[in-house]
Amino acid sequence: MTDEYSFVNDNLAAIRENIAEEADKCGRNAEDIRIMAVTKTVAPEIVNRAVELGVTLLGENRVQEFLSKQEAYDRSAEIHFIGHLQTNKVKYIIEPMTMIQSVDSIKLAQEINRLASAHNKTMDILCEVNIGGEESKSGIAPDGLLELIEAAVSMENLRVRGLMTIPPPASGDIFLGRMEELFHKIKDTTSAGSEMDVLSMGMTHDYADAVRHGSTLVRIGTGLFGARDYSKK
Ligand SMILES: *Cc1c(COP(=O)(O)O)cnc(C)c1O
Repeated sequence: MTDEYSFVNDNLAAIRENIAEEADKCGRNAEDIRIMAVTKTVAPEIVNRAVELGVTLLGENRVQEFLSKQEAYDRSAEIHFIGHLQTNKVKYIIEPMTMIQSVDSIKLAQEINRLASAHNKTMDILCEVNIGGEESKSGIAPDGLLELIEAAVSMENLRVRGLMTIPPPASGDIFLGRMEELFHKIKDTTSAGSEMDVLSMGMTHDYADAVRHGSTLVRIGTGLFGARDYSKK
């Protein structure tokens, strides 16, 4: 059967196949790699197609856009925040989201902890690492990571589940390899290491490489929904 949105069916099938193939090549289980559908600029009806097809996780970049779309989303998927987050916007996402992947400062962690506590919940977080040391990107520098993690681990209403990164474009897999190393080092040396089971890396252009470097969560936008059209968000 084909319809207006069947390109999502085809794209998802191809992504699943690529992940299975890559996992197989490096001796991993494809079931250990979760696919996130990144929804920025994509209409909720199209996002919902991915959910119907079994995608259990959506990724949101912008608080405003999320708020305007959330009512129309299929409720069966979990939602994580993956974009740059200002402390004054945390209040809008503390309830609907199950994880904030873009924590990159102690100040932000403190605010999430404060609001999670007020809502009687424990928020899962990832620390976002600026692994390429790019000026223009958010994320904590690798040499500040341990301090951020230790601080977050001590906050009662946060659970530090791992690391997230967006490596520099066209850098091959050097930075994916560095993240893999860093993830294992952090797991082995921090008090909450046993709770760290998420390494979120890999997007449309590099998810197969990311799988080879131990990613447990790939974040796919373009590869699933097509090129983004910012004019009609
Ligand atoms: C947009 C975005 C993605 C997805 O990028 P694609 O190249 O479209 O797959 C993944 N992660 C983050 C944080 C993003 O902002």
